[in-house]
Amino acid sequence: MKFKTDFILPRPSLYSYGQITAMDLQNYIGGKFLEPLHKQYLTNTNPATGEAYGRIPRSGENDVTLATKAARDAFPHWSTLPAAERSAWMLKVADEIERRLPELALAESIDNGKPLSLATAVDIPRARDNFKFYATAILHDAYETHDMGTHGFNYTLRQPVGVAGCISPWNLPLYLFTWKIAPALAAGNTVVAKPSEVTPATAFLLCKILDDIDFPSGVLNIVHGLGAEVGAAIVAHQDIPIISFTGGTQTGKAISAVAAPMFKKLSLELGGKNANIIFEDCDFDEAVKTSVRAAFANQGQICLCGSRIYIQRSIYEKFKEAFVARVKGLTVGDPLEESTRTGAVVSKAHFEKVLSHIAVAIDEGGTLLTGGNPVQLEGRCKNGYFIAPTVFENLDATCRTNQEEIFGPVVTLTPFDTEEEALAMANSTAYGLAATVWTSNLQVAHRMAARLHAGIIWVNCWLLRDLRTPFGGVKQSGVGREGGFEALRFFTEPKNICIKL
Ligand code: NDP
Repeated sequence: MKFKTDFILPRPSLYSYGQITAMDLQNYIGGKFLEPLHKQYLTNTNPATGEAYGRIPRSGENDVTLATKAARDAFPHWSTLPAAERSAWMLKVADEIERRLPELALAESIDNGKPLSLATAVDIPRARDNFKFYATAILHDAYETHDMGTHGFNYTLRQPVGVAGCISPWNLPLYLFTWKIAPALAAGNTVVAKPSEVTPATAFLLCKILDDIDFPSGVLNIVHGLGAEVGAAIVAHQDIPIISFTGGTQTGKAISAVAAPMFKKLSLELGGKNANIIFEDCDFDEAVKTSVRAAFANQGQICLCGSRIYIQRSIYEKFKEAFVARVKGLTVGDPLEESTRTGAVVSKAHFEKVLSHIAVAIDEGGTLLTGGNPVQLEGRCKNGYFIAPTVFENLDATCRTNQEEIFGPVVTLTPFDTEEEALAMANSTAYGLAATVWTSNLQVAHRMAARLHAGIIWVNCWLLRDLRTPFGGVKQSGVGREGGFEALRFFTEPKNICIKL
C-alpha cells in the first residue's frame, strides 16, 4: 500500500503537505510505504509537551527480512551505476533536504525537544551536507596501484560490500542517520537502516523525499522499531555483512557479540566523557563562551560535549564565576520559541536518568553551583522534560559523576596545577572520544594533543568540523572511523589484482 503523507505538525504553514494533527509513520521498503507486518505500533511522544503525537511501526524480524530482500534485489543495479549517476541521485536528495529545511527542522525539534533554532542552523543543514559531501567525494576517489617494475603491477579495486545495516541514535537524528547512509550509498551499497525509535520522524520524511524524487526502489530501506527487535534483527541477519552503529557503549558491546562471530565488518561510534582543559594563558572570554556551548549544546546530549572541565588553579575562581554566570543566562524554554537555547531532554526515561545522575553527584559530595533541578514551564510545555543546566565542583576525578557518561546538561569543574595532572585526570575514564585544550602556547597544545587518549582533539575550539577528517574514538568510545575517505573505505572491500608482466 502506498502511504500518502498526511502527518501533522503544529505549524502547518511550515509544512508543505497541508494541515495535519498527528504523525503516523510507516516503514519504507522496496520504494513503498508499508505497515509493519504484525501491525503493531509504538507511541511517539513530544518531549517538550509530554504528549503523544503519533505512532511508530513496531516492526519485527520479518520486516527486516523483507527490507533486506529489497536491498539485495536493488544491489546489482545500484552498485554498478557509474559514480556520476549515483552522485546525481544523492545530490537530488541534498537539494530536496535544502528545499524542505524548515519543515524538517520543525519535525526534528518536535520529535527530539531540541531548539528549533539549533535544528535549523545545524542538524538539517548538516544532513544536506552529508549527502553533498559523499555525492561529490566519489567523483574524486581513485584506486591505488603498486608498481613492481619489470615483474608486474597491482591495482586495488574498492568494491561495495553489499547490504549495509545502519543503526543510529536519537541525539542528532537526521544528522547522524545521514552520516552513515550517505557514504554507504555513495560507495555503491544498498542499505537497511533503523533510526532511533525515540526520534524517527525525520528519517520518515527522508523517505518521503526519496519517494517524491523517484529514487531507485530498494536502495535505501528504513525499518522503524525497537533496538532489541529491529536493531538486533539487522545485526543478526545473514545477508547483511556490514554494520555501522552509533549509540551507547553497552549496546555496542551487545552488537559486537553477535556481529564479530559472523565476521561482519563493524564500525562502532560509542559514548564519550570528554575533557575540556583550560590553561591560564588561554583566550579567557572565548574559552568561557565556547565551554558553555560545549557543555550544554543540545541539552548536553552530544557525544562530543565537554562535560569534565579542568581549569588551571590560577584562573579557577575567575573562570568559575564567568562560566556559571553565563550558564545562568541560558534560557530553558519551549523549543519552538526563537529565544530558546536549551530545550527539553529527549524522553521521560532520559529525564529521569539525568536527574538520577544529579542525585549521585550530590551524594558524592559535589557542590552545586547552579541548576540541579527539573524546570516546569508554563503553557503547552508544562508537562515537558526540562532540566536546568547544572554545574558541580568539588568532585574527585575518580567519582562516578566524573567517570560515567551522563549525556545531559550536567558538567563538573575541577582545578589542576600541572600539565601532568590535567593529563592524568583527562585520560582517567574508560572513554576516549574527544578532548579540548585551551592555551596560547603552541608547545603545550601539541604536547597535550599527542598525549591525550582520544580520537578527536580540538585546540582553542569545539565542534569545528571538517567532513574530510577521521571521526571516532578510542577505548570504549568505539572501533573504526567515520568521515572523509575513511567512511568510503569502511563501506568497500579492497580487492587487489596482481598482473605479471
Ligand atoms: P542506544 O545504544 O540506546 O541506541 C542506539 C541505537 O541502537 C538506537 O537506534 C537503538 O534503538 C539501537 N539499539 C538498541 N539496542 C540494540 C541492539 N541490541 N541491537 C541493535 N540495535 C540496538 O543509544 P542512544 O540512542 O541512547 O544514544 C545515546 C548514546 O549514543 C550515547 O552513549 C552517546 O554517547 C552515543 N553517541 C555516540 C556518538 C559517536 O559518534 N561516538 C554520536 C552520538 C551519540 P532504540 O532507540 O529503539 O532503542
